[in-house]
Amino acid sequence: MTPASTRSSDSEPSHPRDASASTGPVHLLELTPEELSARLSRHFEARRQPEFRVDQVRKWVYESSVSSIGEMSNLPLTEREALAAAFRLAEPEAATVSRSKDGTVKHLWRLEDGKVVESVLIPAESRLTLCISSQAGCAMGCTFCATGWSGFSRQLSAAEIVAQYRASRRWAEEHDYGSITNVVYMGMGEPLSNRKAVHPSLTILNRGFGLGARRITVSTVGVVPGIAELAARPEQFELALSLHAPESELRRTLIPLEKRHPLPELMEAIRAFREGKGRRVTFEYTMIRGINDAPRLAPMLADLARDVQAFVNLIPFNPIPYQDWRPSTPDRVDHFRRALEEAGVSVAVRAPRGQDIDAACGQLRANALVQIAK
Ligand code: SF4
Repeated sequence: MTPASTRSSDSEPSHPRDASASTGPVHLLELTPEELSARLSRHFEARRQPEFRVDQVRKWVYESSVSSIGEMSNLPLTEREALAAAFRLAEPEAATVSRSKDGTVKHLWRLEDGKVVESVLIPAESRLTLCISSQAGCAMGCTFCATGWSGFSRQLSAAEIVAQYRASRRWAEEHDYGSITNVVYMGMGEPLSNRKAVHPSLTILNRGFGLGARRITVSTVGVVPGIAELAARPEQFELALSLHAPESELRRTLIPLEKRHPLPELMEAIRAFREGKGRRVTFEYTMIRGINDAPRLAPMLADLARDVQAFVNLIPFNPIPYQDWRPSTPDRVDHFRRALEEAGVSVAVRAPRGQDIDAACGQLRANALVQIAK
């Protein structure tokens, strides 16, 4: 059996709601800060309104939690009505909110067309990390991932990605969780297969909402052109690679994309990212009993990590409904940890978070977030 809609492709499936082609009101969260200022400026100029209206609206968008233009109370009513005719500020509705006994919170967001995506808030020490989705479903078909088995539904727009942050920020404020300090693109979907929306969303979170680039991590299963594009950006966004196997043959059975971008090519892209950015890349390695935890693989993993000076997260497998797999034994996980340490590789074993609410982002990766988001 293989996951539904397996494409093993790094091409970008089409965007059903292409904002640039849309004729309706423009979503305020779809625009980069520069685009937002320019559009608002034109709008208010045409209405003979003072320029400070632009700043007023920007503050409502980035610094407040209002969920509609009608709530922008320092704008005259007529201006709110005119603004609402040209722009919108729709946010996803929380279909469910699940709170774990360890504080982890999973939101299932219902989008305007009824599709559901998830985001996860993970409190830890002084940080509050938000894991967000970049696609509804996923086309990558990774065999260890619940989302991969469910297949691809559609791309998210930049507004739908950013809205998960904005709505989660409001929830966190209202429930004494404090401020979101880190964002990771580790929820549903492969972010680098939706670069058309993910790139502007990175810009909006960074320059609009003021989240430092080093506090934003993009996680990929190995979309090489996307890694190169991320490396070419001037900001210092972080990169995490879902590795899960240190040799091509085995990796292909877990991540179909390995056939298109085999490990040597992938490591070359990681090396270029590392050298270009001067930032440490994180490897995620989900340990599945009898599948990818043979002792012979530990030194191979160590070699790959040492080669690009990666940090390694060892993540005990979190069972999914579609596979009869189990997590590696603690002894085996410890064997890997020691082998990596002895090879001089920085490594952490991640304790699962939010297991009682199934908060692993469908990818068994949430338990790696705390370290990655540091
Ligand atoms: S692990 Fe990531 S890329 Fe692979 S199927 Fe799951 S969501 Fe998609």
